[in-house]
Amino acid sequence: MDFQPILEPTVFSEIPQDLIIDDIIILAQCCDNVVNWLRTYGLLARRMRCCCGVEMYETHSSHFQDGYEWRCSPCRRECSIRHGSFFTPSKIPLPLMFKFLYYWSEDLQSHAFLEKHLGWSPNTVVDWKNYLRDICLEEILMNPQPIGGPGKIVEIDESKFGKRKYNRGRLLTGQWVFGMVERDTDDIIMVTVPDRSTATLLPIIQRFIHPQTIIYSDEWASYNILSHSGYTHYTVNHSEIFVDPVTHVHTQKIEGSWGGVKKRQKKGQTTNPELLETHLIEACWRRRHKKNIFGFILRGIRDLYPVI
Ligand SMILES: [Zn+2]
Repeated sequence: MDFQPILEPTVFSEIPQDLIIDDIIILAQCCDNVVNWLRTYGLLARRMRCCCGVEMYETHSSHFQDGYEWRCSPCRRECSIRHGSFFTPSKIPLPLMFKFLYYWSEDLQSHAFLEKHLGWSPNTVVDWKNYLRDICLEEILMNPQPIGGPGKIVEIDESKFGKRKYNRGRLLTGQWVFGMVERDTDDIIMVTVPDRSTATLLPIIQRFIHPQTIIYSDEWASYNILSHSGYTHYTVNHSEIFVDPVTHVHTQKIEGSWGGVKKRQKKGQTTNPELLETHLIEACWRRRHKKNIFGFILRGIRDLYPVI
């Protein structure tokens, strides 16, 4: 038996939506404040049980990096206050982790910025960004949430990600990505696809877009089958117009989304489909939780590393 955080039925306080960077900087000046904050929101254990079965007590520590430890009275065993948490494997001071979580949430996640403001090595930055992307991935995969529904409009489009080959005109090497965005909510789903055939795209549409949705697309032939597949389908001819003057059909929302995602992607410069897929999922996750990204990433961490 290992040390075990004592889990108790807890009603968590909602993570405030109005935190600003000044609040974070001030909080992060004091490690005790950060520890208390992380405990309040369920990211560090509030109680710990020793492997001998006795509840441990918290005391000052001369060798754990946070200045405190859990200690067992009868058997004198001790463990880190991070035990069982998302922060367990790391030696990075908690105030820096706390700042990192906030910066990432605010999309201040360029390598240059994080290396400068956290004093981290490039590898540390990559690792922790990956860990957070894994949290997003886990949630989206466990809870994919199809979009659309009767009377709702979803725009669909395909776009190629990757570097332009200058010596071959407009030819691109890279990876096709298929995107779907719901007009009202802005919820977006993007997945990498090997090609743009009906055989590839239709199963994805059926998996992620509710039946009876109104779908807007360009005139790509693969979409012709949609009106026979339980959807209401309108098209806009991009070579001539961008908004159909009669039906007012347009797909500007999904097309506008590509730019933002590609800009984020550009820094990674990857056309590795697996890596691209995880970047796309992070982009979808951010869109889903745009009202409180900091709150939702902490909730995601809390769900995967329950310590309270
Ligand atoms: Zn013990």
